[in-house]
Order: sequence, then structure tokens, then C-alpha cells
Amino acid sequence: MKLAKLGAGPEIFHTIQGEGPGAGAPAVFIRASRCNLHCVWCDTDYTWNFQGTPWPHEKDAIPGYAKFPKADVTIELDPAEAARLVLAFGCPRVVITGGEPLLQEDGFLDMIGRIRGQMPDCYFEVETNATRIPSPAFAEAVDQFNVSPKLANAGMAEALRLVPDALRFFAASPNSWFKFVVSTPADLAEVQTLRARFHIPYERILLMPQGRSAAELDRTAPWLAELCRDLGFRFCDRLHIRLWGERRGV
Ligand code: SF4
Repeated sequence: MKLAKLGAGPEIFHTIQGEGPGAGAPAVFIRASRCNLHCVWCDTDYTWNFQGTPWPHEKDAIPGYAKFPKADVTIELDPAEAARLVLAFGCPRVVITGGEPLLQEDGFLDMIGRIRGQMPDCYFEVETNATRIPSPAFAEAVDQFNVSPKLANAGMAEALRLVPDALRFFAASPNSWFKFVVSTPADLAEVQTLRARFHIPYERILLMPQGRSAAELDRTAPWLAELCRDLGFRFCDRLHIRLWGERRGV
């Protein structure tokens, strides 16, 4: 599997889940490298914004920001070794994130099987941008999908970021929770359109402020929370950003 590299090893770390219905729960995170999207505000840009790619990023405006040499930010690991590293934390909740984990679902399915062989009650969350339908075996193995379709504020053409068959699949899956990143009040109209088009239940939609710092979150969170209250959506903060900012591995 191609995983994000952190220091000399893979980005596998013990922390608390900062987003979604599992927010606050201790969890081991394992981060896939590679993504089929390129959101302009992505905070894990080191999983896809490689040298030689044409994609823009908001950070291009920051002096000194540069695309990443692929070899410096990627590490290959087989599923058995990934399972061994995850199991070493002894934590019964694992979050497979990215990047886009469904690009490497065979490897992660192998890893999940190995972990469950040692820890049968382990709970697996998978974070996905909802542009791929998981295989039946993978869908069966995962306890919870944290589905994050991208709105226009991510800076890509709709045909790239919205895959109707995949969105219908997740909307019909009771263990899928939809998390939309909101930047402005105008984003709500898009969320409502997607909710109606794909019949996503209100109770499985979370709205999360866009922001890579507590200050950025604070600009959006108050009005977004009020909109959630008034419209019937769940509000979702970014606890890990508030606790640790953009620090990796915590
Ligand atoms: S889908 Fe997720 S990982 Fe991929 S570019 Fe967008 S925010 Fe980043």
C-alpha cells in the first residue's frame, strides 16, 4: 500500500477522532497517500500535490510553499506490516483516511482482516470523498463510512467531484455519514440540492466549517451552527485542528 510518510515511517498514529459522529473517540489513524481529487483547501495536500502535477492549492500564495517530491512523502507498506503497526497501539477503533483510501481498497481490506483476526471487535471507520463505490467485501468489512462529497468551494469541476452512482450507494447505506465542508452561507444551497437529489437523510448530514486553524474555524462555526440548528443538520467541528492545528501525527 502507498501510505503518507511521516518522518522515516508511515503516518500511523494514536489520537482522538476529531470529526464526524465518532468525534472525541480514541482511534488509530492510518493515512493513505494518493487522491483522485485536488481540493484547493485540502489540508493533506502531501498525499497528492506532487511535483509535476498541475493542480493549484490555496497555499500557493504562501511564500515558500512548493509541491512535494513524491518519494519524500510516500512510503510503501504491505498490509501485514500495516496491521502489525496498528495493532501495536491496542486501540479498538481504527480510522482509515487519506488521501482517498478507496483507491487502495484491496490492501486495506487485507489489513482489516488481519487486525480483526487479533482484535475481533475492532471498529473501522473509512473516510472517503465518495467518488468510488466500495466492493461488496470492503463495504461489509467497514463499520462506518465518513463520506465527504466536495462542493464547488473545493475548486474542481462537478463532473470530477460528484459521482452520482457512488453518492446513491452511500446515501442508501445506513452506516454512511455525510460530512460537507462549508465556507460560505451560499454553500448551503448546494448541500440542499445534493440532499434532495440523492435522498440523503437529514440525520446523516453533518456540516463542518472549512478551516485549517482555530481562527479560520471561528470565522465560520458560529453562523454555521445556527444554520444547522434552524435547518435540521448536525454541526461538526474540527476538534483536532482546535487542539493541534495542522501538526501531523497527533
Ligand atoms: S478529497 Fe480529501 S484528500 Fe482528496 S484532495 Fe480533497 S480534501 Fe484532500
